[in-house]
Amino acid sequence: MKRALVTGITGQDGRHLAEFLVGKGYQVFGLVRGQNNPKAQMVQDENPALEVIAGDLQDLSSLIAAIEQVQPDEVYNLGAISFVQLSFNQPELTADITGLGVLRMLEAIRVVGGAQNNPIRFYQASSSEMFGKVRETPQNESTPFHPRSPYGVAKVFGHYTTVNHRESYGLHASSGICFNHEGPRRGLEFVTRKVTNGMARIKLGLQNTITLGNLESARDWGYAGDYVEAMWLMLQQDEPDDYVLATGETHTIRELLVAAARVAGYDDWSPLVNQDERFERPAEVDILTGDAGKAREKLGWQPKVSFDELVELMYEHDLKEEQAKADTKRR
Ligand code: GDP
Repeated sequence: MKRALVTGITGQDGRHLAEFLVGKGYQVFGLVRGQNNPKAQMVQDENPALEVIAGDLQDLSSLIAAIEQVQPDEVYNLGAISFVQLSFNQPELTADITGLGVLRMLEAIRVVGGAQNNPIRFYQASSSEMFGKVRETPQNESTPFHPRSPYGVAKVFGHYTTVNHRESYGLHASSGICFNHEGPRRGLEFVTRKVTNGMARIKLGLQNTITLGNLESARDWGYAGDYVEAMWLMLQQDEPDDYVLATGETHTIRELLVAAARVAGYDDWSPLVNQDERFERPAEVDILTGDAGKAREKLGWQPKVSFDELVELMYEHDLKEEQAKADTKRR
């Protein structure tokens, strides 16, 4: 039985990846930080096969202990401060967890090692936010980085640290440059989920409008469940490498609103949306479009869920969830 250690296990991707790996017959260990963290119980209930272990990306000793305890074949580093807006308010924390956390995990792997004939394989969750103020469109593995937030800067550090450990120490360390990937498990602070959840609540009469920031920016949005398969495929290759993971299709926030209003049965989204500069950022990533040609050719990977299907599945989930919450309140 293969053993995988996953950081960020309580986040969207960690939960999808844990399910995927259990389905592949792995024994999965999830790193959870903090004392009595309520999310530990949530992931344990959701996935009883998962084993939760204590540790923190800010604490090297805890990572060494986790690697020694788990003796993993594969480590997936999905843990991070992942919300760009928050990174502007807490840049040092973001640099520490999202950036230095990668170095700590790589050092833990390097120090503990693995069986000589079975070295630990490492996946780093890198981000399209590293491209920021894009230098070319679409963006591929050789597009220069120009991050536009403390989050993007920290991810660039994590990416290059992964590459450097691969080149310096021969680690099987790969970096997946993931474009935005969403789903019903996305936090409500991210724009896709904020819109589908808001639209569902409007439909149920629980709120009147959705308040957003910049409606002009555009993202290459895929479905998170598709992306975790590519993460796993990267670690099954003989050689470690870097791959862009993206759909290649870009939509603006306005198009997201059109799609969400359509599934909710509204002709016009504009009376349902307010704008507030509180949700705008000091620096913005205007448009992202990924070229996942290398992943398609080398990994045989391709996202399956389209943009319209994604919006619909998120809206339907949110409608059910909000209805259930409202029913419980009424009782
Ligand atoms: P990101 O690409 O990781 O920053 O993902 P987000 O979902 O947080 O933001 C995607 C884009 O939506 C960014 O360009 C935001 O400026 C834009 N946006 C517009 N209004 C909002 C909002 O109310 N919340 C968030 N999170 N993003 C918004």
